Amino acid sequence: MREKIVAGNWKMNKTLDEGKTLASEIVNMYADEVSDDVKAILCTPFINLPSVKGIIGNTKNVFLGAQNCNDHESGAYTGETSVPMLKAIGVSYVIIGHSERREYYNESDEFLAKKVDAALAGGVTPIFCCGEPLEIREAGTHFDYVTKQLTASLFHLSADQFKKIVIAYEPIWAIGTGKTATSDQAQEMHEKLRQHLASKYGDVAEEISILYGGSCKPDNAQEIFAGKDVDGGLIGGASLKSRDFIEIIKSF
Ligand code: PEP
Repeated sequence: MREKIVAGNWKMNKTLDEGKTLASEIVNMYADEVSDDVKAILCTPFINLPSVKGIIGNTKNVFLGAQNCNDHESGAYTGETSVPMLKAIGVSYVIIGHSERREYYNESDEFLAKKVDAALAGGVTPIFCCGEPLEIREAGTHFDYVTKQLTASLFHLSADQFKKIVIAYEPIWAIGTGKTATSDQAQEMHEKLRQHLASKYGDVAEEISILYGGSCKPDNAQEIFAGKDVDGGLIGGASLKSRDFIEIIKSF
């Protein structure tokens, strides 16, 4: 059985106090309202991680995530944060390859492969993001584009390593734009991605959770999550409001 996952990417939002309030609301609402086995992951800014971990504690099915990591274990990398540092404060997941990092910080497929390796070596699960820009979608080459991203950054992994990966398909034209992929577009891409994973890893592909991200909200989550290859969501804007985030989780 694949895991159902809803991860909130807070991006560069929420001061410490605001983040603590948001996390407390989510943890309380989750405990009161969510009965289904859906994992909730709070990917907060680095500076909020230890406090949010304190709020999450050992709450069943709620986990802490980071939004980035360095590809080295330690050393002279000013301003960076390593996977062992994240692990030490209770981080279980790390977003790798978000389109904003690919675009604004020039993170290449090859560089992302190193981050994936670092995360796995340190025992933190990568949430690996992929997705096409609008011009690629309009040119009709989106399947090719996205499968190549996976090949380039993930296909050096062994099957055992690969089992520990979560994938997030996020069409760039749908991120923060209010423009969502239709449920058919999401399912179609997720199915292609799973077939691509199967071409390399066989049955392991069936065990990999593939999340959808891109303007996912309480009013469209149910339809998107209904796709048989859609195992949850990576949520940006709507993860900043506890009620919206919980309603998305309850959409399964
Ligand atoms: C994201 O950035 O991962 C994302 C999906 O953002 P939004 O939900 O705001 O489109």
